[in-house]
Amino acid sequence: MPPVPVHPPADLSAFRAALLDWYDAHGRTLAWRASPGAASPEPYRVWLSEVMLQQTTTPHATPYFHSFTVRWPTVSDLAAAGDSDVMAAWAGLGYYARARNLLACARAVARDHGGVFPDTEAGLLALPGVGAYTAAAVAAIAFGRAANVVDGNVERVMSRLFAVETPLPAAKPELKRLAATLVAGDRPGDWAQALMDLGATVCRPGRPTCERCPLTRWCAGFRTGAPERYPLKTKKTERPHRTGTAWVLRDAAGRVALVRRPDKGLLGGMTGLPTSDWSVDAAVASPPVAADWQDAGAIEHVFTHFSLTLSVQTATGTGDFLWTHADEALVSLPTVFSKALERALAS
Ligand code: SF4
Repeated sequence: MPPVPVHPPADLSAFRAALLDWYDAHGRTLAWRASPGAASPEPYRVWLSEVMLQQTTTPHATPYFHSFTVRWPTVSDLAAAGDSDVMAAWAGLGYYARARNLLACARAVARDHGGVFPDTEAGLLALPGVGAYTAAAVAAIAFGRAANVVDGNVERVMSRLFAVETPLPAAKPELKRLAATLVAGDRPGDWAQALMDLGATVCRPGRPTCERCPLTRWCAGFRTGAPERYPLKTKKTERPHRTGTAWVLRDAAGRVALVRRPDKGLLGGMTGLPTSDWSVDAAVASPPVAADWQDAGAIEHVFTHFSLTLSVQTATGTGDFLWTHADEALVSLPTVFSKALERALAS
């Protein structure tokens, strides 16, 4: 029997207290956070962490957060950094449009706001590359605004708490509206982080550990006996597959030929190996220079919207390229290129 959703719980203050008490005892300790109930963390750190955490796991983002904040301790320091330095420091985090937006936003804060982040959701939203989620997160966590912060974890918790029968992604507006009914002016930053933490550690994807949850008595999904059924999902269409070729040209000094990719498009503005177009049909591609090209095998890589098989060709030669030592290229190139370079070096 489907449960009747509650909007919001009749005893909202008891509901909120249960989750905030749980957060005080069980919230995650993360590099960018203040302790529960402590003074708010710096907006720069909150913003940086939220941008890094989009489509990246916490363990993967944490070392990048440390290195960015050591190298560029303030938003003005980051604004003054060179594009290629920031792009190289971002390599391996993926979704490189975020790095370009990061720089654009840092420079807008430095140039237009004297290096101080706006302290309202609307002001934050007006910054380049700052979307509704990031604006809400920074407003709540850094500035104590009663903003409605809804990420994937919070969507899952809402879908279960209210046993939402609409599948994702169509359910997103409904889940956001439900989350908004729970927001209040008391500890808004901790509230946002408590919901995220509950989703990340207890109400997890797959089977939730309801026996450790402070919200079972309010949870309609729990009462169905099958909370893992939520959120319902619309069947995914398959990711298309593309193929292409990467050329690894080396010189006698052990350097590798690199190129700067066009600003627009995938990995735009990043340094990479010369490649063919990545097309759905395997193309007969022309190498960047004439040389005795040898086949070094292929690598697989998965992007958000397609998967890629990249044939790797290797040769020695010269030409007008950005010549970079292989060791340096391996650590600074975007993952798809470092995989191809590794393949060439191992051949
Ligand atoms: Fe999630 Fe279970 Fe808690 Fe409901 S009771 S919010 S399903 S962990």
